[in-house]
Amino acid sequence: MDTDVIVVGAGPTGLTLANELGLAGVRALVLERLPERTGQSKALNLQPRTAEMLQMRGWLEPVLDRAVTAVPGGHFAGMPLDYSVFDTRFPYQVGIPQARVEEFLEDRLAAYGTPVLRGHELTGLAQDAGGVTATVTGPRGTHDLRAAYLVGADGGRSTVRKRLGVGFPGRDGRVSMVVADVVLADDEALPTTWRLPPVEPGRAGELFLVPLGEGVFRFLFGGPEQQGIDRDSPVTEDEIRAALRPAHGFRPRLREVRWASRFTDASRQAERYVNGRVLLAGDAAHIHFPAGGQGLNLGVQDAFNLGWKLAAQVKGAASEGLLETYHTERHPVGAAVLRNTRAQGVLLVPDDDVLALRGIMADVLATPEANRRIAGMISGLDIRYPMPDTPAHPLLGTRLPAPLPSGRGLLLADDRPVHPWRDRVDVSAPHEGESVLIRPDGYVCWAGTTNTPGLTDALTRWFGPAK
Ligand SMILES: Cc1cc2nc3c(=O)[nH]c(=O)nc-3n(C[C@H](O)[C@H](O)[C@H](O)COP(=O)(O)OP(=O)(O)OC[C@H]3O[C@@H](n4cnc5c(N)ncnc54)[C@H](O)[C@@H]3O)c2cc1C
Repeated sequence: MDTDVIVVGAGPTGLTLANELGLAGVRALVLERLPERTGQSKALNLQPRTAEMLQMRGWLEPVLDRAVTAVPGGHFAGMPLDYSVFDTRFPYQVGIPQARVEEFLEDRLAAYGTPVLRGHELTGLAQDAGGVTATVTGPRGTHDLRAAYLVGADGGRSTVRKRLGVGFPGRDGRVSMVVADVVLADDEALPTTWRLPPVEPGRAGELFLVPLGEGVFRFLFGGPEQQGIDRDSPVTEDEIRAALRPAHGFRPRLREVRWASRFTDASRQAERYVNGRVLLAGDAAHIHFPAGGQGLNLGVQDAFNLGWKLAAQVKGAASEGLLETYHTERHPVGAAVLRNTRAQGVLLVPDDDVLALRGIMADVLATPEANRRIAGMISGLDIRYPMPDTPAHPLLGTRLPAPLPSGRGLLLADDRPVHPWRDRVDVSAPHEGESVLIRPDGYVCWAGTTNTPGLTDALTRWFGPAK
């Protein structure tokens, strides 16, 4: 074997996963087609649950140092969501360009000696009972690499997914849009905060103009002119200039286009995330309209769900079926994001009937219950994994933000020794008088009192047989 795990793709998903594997002491390498970082960012935010997960590893502080702003609350198709109703240290989004998150994650891989092989593209893939063979084309030609497992975190057009032949049902894009980072001439009327413009008749296509600092603005648009254009055709400066229509009562003046690209509202999800020794994560497993700022967050959280399970599998310490729970837990979460982004896509059409619907939706979202429901979904804070055959408890399957810097599990209890799992589970004081077992990804997999049964079963199920 050349390594234990090959991670294909040095985007936010692959880099998070590589860090999780490194933390667990598993040998991994990352293949990245691009010869160097582009510095370009599609995503601009970390949702509260992603911030919590980085915090639990002790990785958030340096990320916050690179952030641009804190965005109060979230939004659903531009309608505000109040995150302050949640019990979280992060009732806001961290406004940070994706490239800065990637840079942080890639730099910290050095701590584990995990190589990121840039300019190396996965071009072929085969698996057998003993491992995976990846065909890699790089600066010195084409060669094979052998590993026990391979994870396709290679984005929406994933070669891994295509080579596997896994179904990717859903629908193609109906709407074509442009994302551009532009430098605009100074003007008092330019927005200074991250706000979506109102959806109004006659304002079709302008979705977003927000400051990223140093005169750079993120501009998202997609009017009638953009429809039907091939996704890979270059975005022209004239196209951007024409789209910078009088926003906020004036027409911004374009100085420079830093980068621009097209995207659509295509919505598809891989049928299987776990395919023998090959797994899919992030955009390789799901693509959708970027409404609400969820895609990067979904991918990073896929990686936090998968990393410790795959590490246990590689070490031969996993109970049967552990790896499969990556699919059973994360596929429904991805499906829910696809549903909500499709719904948001409809609500963003500036049509009179849709505006009527938006008015009603805005009224509904202003009620505490609806806000909690939708904000829970967009923020990632409402995720609750099924914990079969475990005594019921209100905390079961929910997140419990606790420091987990070791990447091991955590038993909050004082009187239930976990000696046979001591190498995999840390122990700390009880949680509000109760005993709680937390998985490495921060979700509760057993809770109760000293008399509640099932602790040994939960330890075995999630952390492997006793030693
Ligand atoms: C306009 C726009 C705005 C967005 N805004 C947000 C937002 O605000 N918030 C949010 O959460 N999400 C947002 N997203 C979504 C977010 O950018 C993606 O979900 C995220 O990039 C997915 O990360 P990933 O690591 O799974 O895939 P990617 O970021 O696509 O990374 C995949 C990597 O794999 C590499 N690769 C591909 N094929 C191969 C191969 N064969 N061999 C080796 N390497 C390969 C690629 O070069 C790339 O570096 C937005 C998306 C768009 C289009």
